[in-house]
Amino acid sequence: MARIELKHVGHAYNRIDGTPRYALYPLDLAWEDGGTYALLGPSGCGKTTMLNIVSGLLTPSQGQVLIDGRDVTGIPAARRNIAQVFQFPVVYPSKSVYENLAFPLRCRNMPGREIDRRVNEIAELLNLDAILQRPARKLTPDAKQLISLGRGLVRDDVAVILMDEPLTVIDPQLKFHLRRKLKDISARHGHTLVYVTHDQNEAMTLAEQVIVMDNGHVVQVGTPQDLFENPAHTHVGYFIGSPSMNFLPCVVVDGEIRCFDQPVARTKVRTDALGANLTLGIRPEFVDIVAPDGAGSLAGRVADTQDLGAFSIVTVMVAEGWPVRAKVRHAPVAPNAEVGLRLSPDWIRLFADGALVSGGAISAM
Ligand code: ADP
Ligand code: MG
Repeated sequence: MARIELKHVGHAYNRIDGTPRYALYPLDLAWEDGGTYALLGPSGCGKTTMLNIVSGLLTPSQGQVLIDGRDVTGIPAARRNIAQVFQFPVVYPSKSVYENLAFPLRCRNMPGREIDRRVNEIAELLNLDAILQRPARKLTPDAKQLISLGRGLVRDDVAVILMDEPLTVIDPQLKFHLRRKLKDISARHGHTLVYVTHDQNEAMTLAEQVIVMDNGHVVQVGTPQDLFENPAHTHVGYFIGSPSMNFLPCVVVDGEIRCFDQPVARTKVRTDALGANLTLGIRPEFVDIVAPDGAGSLAGRVADTQDLGAFSIVTVMVAEGWPVRAKVRHAPVAPNAEVGLRLSPDWIRLFADGALVSGGAISAM
């Protein structure tokens, strides 16, 4: 129901000494009508700042916010048709659960019967129907957070729902259930949903598009598959995936990619286009453990094996201070064993000064 566009939006807060410091560097970003987006990044990277700029709680120090093409930068939050759910529950303790949920509708003078219908629908969705008459102050923190969530969802005149880490205080089992429901609700109502989280699993399961942020910058916007397969930056490879992408320093000489003087694959990449600082990245899913001295494999010594039931994570040191993790079905390797690592050529990625190198097919030795 609404397309949101940020045009050169940036924000700096003042330091204690009065000098400005960017929390969000100027950026352009568009959120399509009806899309489901996650803003993902570590604490302090600017997620809440971006969300508050969209909702209107914060006026950016530069740039414009457009909703369906209309510049709303100077328009207050209350007039933006946006619902926002905060990280910590905001409830009226003396009101009942019912009245807490009804509050945004009463503020808009909705008729009683319609309020009743909406409140019951949302209460059922969030499993709050049995406690509708209880005063909110008597509830547990996660029940309170459900009320906050319900208040964000209860209005049907909103085009955009912004959620700032709303499931932080909710127990893992219920979290799983709620994520599904949120996805259903936003699909059914066609809301544009922007969901902030520092949890990659949450971002990847909920969103069609994930916006990865680091230190006030958007480092990549992509589907969960894009972020897994083609991280635009080593930061994304590191932040997404469990365990993280492996990174090793490498050089390309005569069409050979070499790590620690050992050839691991061939590439047609144009070496003159590469920066000085070249890194090979490969996900643990695409590393195989083979016999030592296998052609094109990287020699190393097993440092650790973690058996996680369905698979094992084997850590192999390929040089002093350079571990490579392999995610394998079985781990028939003894501690300290000398092994070879085969890096699947299709899944080797090269990064020049941290940025993904595109083009230049990579093949086996
Ligand atoms: P996130 O939501 O990703 O954790 P925030 O957007 O809250 O990050 O904060 C981004 C940066 O801006 C942080 O360094 C934070 O300390 C700083 N910051 C946030 N709010 C304020 C404020 N009101 N005044 C000064 N600095 C702030
Ligand atoms: Mg935050």
